[in-house]
Amino acid sequence: MFFYSTNNISPKVDFKQATINGQAPDKGLYFPEEIPVFPVEMIENINSYSNEEIAFQVIRPYVGDAIPEAELRRIVAETINFDIPLVWVTDDIFSLELYHGPTLAFKDIGARFMSRCLGYFVKDLGKKVTVLVATSGDTGGAVANGFFDVDGIDVVILYPSGKVSTVQEKQLTTLGKNIHALEVTGTFDDCQLMVKEAFSDEGLKEKLFLTSANSINVARWLPQQFYYFFAYKQWQQKNNPPVIAVPSGNFGNICAGILAHVSGLPVKHFIAACNANDIVPSFMQTEKYEPKKAVPTISNAMDVGNPSNFIRILEIFGHHFINLKKVVSSCSITDEETKETLKAVYQQKKYLLDPHGAVGYFALQQYQQKNPGQKGIVLETAHPVKFFDVVEPITGQPVLIPTSVQAQLLLQKKSTKIAADTAMLKQFLLSL
Ligand SMILES: *Cc1c(COP(=O)(O)O)cnc(C)c1O
Repeated sequence: MFFYSTNNISPKVDFKQATINGQAPDKGLYFPEEIPVFPVEMIENINSYSNEEIAFQVIRPYVGDAIPEAELRRIVAETINFDIPLVWVTDDIFSLELYHGPTLAFKDIGARFMSRCLGYFVKDLGKKVTVLVATSGDTGGAVANGFFDVDGIDVVILYPSGKVSTVQEKQLTTLGKNIHALEVTGTFDDCQLMVKEAFSDEGLKEKLFLTSANSINVARWLPQQFYYFFAYKQWQQKNNPPVIAVPSGNFGNICAGILAHVSGLPVKHFIAACNANDIVPSFMQTEKYEPKKAVPTISNAMDVGNPSNFIRILEIFGHHFINLKKVVSSCSITDEETKETLKAVYQQKKYLLDPHGAVGYFALQQYQQKNPGQKGIVLETAHPVKFFDVVEPITGQPVLIPTSVQAQLLLQKKSTKIAADTAMLKQFLLSL
């Protein structure tokens, strides 16, 4: 399988090169030349296949011969080695809990898959690879955990001192081994700028193989299809496929779901549930795509003013607006609606959502009111404990911390404090 750049200037590449490059040199996003057809027989008998087998069959056509079968099977098995349950909330709404991975967010799946693919590819690269990321919180944890102990790869994470939550900081700073946390006395923007400057530094390029673990990387994007198949496997009414609501920020997650659907997975409709950052909901009304400055909300992992993966959704539909509208709708939910939903679902259904899941839940309810008789799934993208400061005042109850995280909270933080200065970052990178 080859991937072309959505800007159509850079040459086509295979899965290996697309993973190593991240973004295409012409600044476009890599997109598969054709969308594979998932075996109909497997869809019809999905309950008789293991999750490992389903995930392997989903990803195999994209990877092609870039990774041998046995190795790819191992990577897939390690990627999905935690529960992804579909939980009953009401007779019409089910929650796909994507937060049982090591950092309690759905980003674990993409990060684990990408890290292992890159780990395989660096073996014949002949030099060590350094993954450099700046984080405002969640991405760093998933990347750190995903790459932990992967041979041949060092990970350097920059985070703004005092500006990430305690849980997030522990997730970044307690792993050790090949994971290096740099606590920058500055803001997230400073961290991002330092990373950007390091990437364009010719001197560093000569000595190190630097790469990013950006969310647009095909090896992070494509494995997100897996859990849409797992959801369908657990769906009881196979002849009445679900409507799926996806809390969306950069639109990578929902775009993977749509790709799965176009490959043959039965889904009735997709709802892209956004917070106040309503670029896509506006587009669906006006057909005009107008990026804006992101506004802060309580579902902050979706505070995105220019969703980078949306172009891939347009690509799937050949930029035909009518076709897109048949499959996807989008809406913007306020913080007030998010909080009310979180509270009502907790009190009436005894089910605790996180703010991102609550955005999806409200959007699904709204859709069901307009389209009666439809049953749906909301993707729960993070564990409520990650947003306890929002959740606890609403429920009046402490959120129980999963045992896996409790252990990590007791570990000693290990980080290197540095000034917001790229020269210091360079020095650190060269000393690894
Ligand atoms: C990243 C994230 C999202 C948004 O996912 P996209 O793929 O960027 O649309 C939603 N919820 C949580 C908790 C996240 O961390």
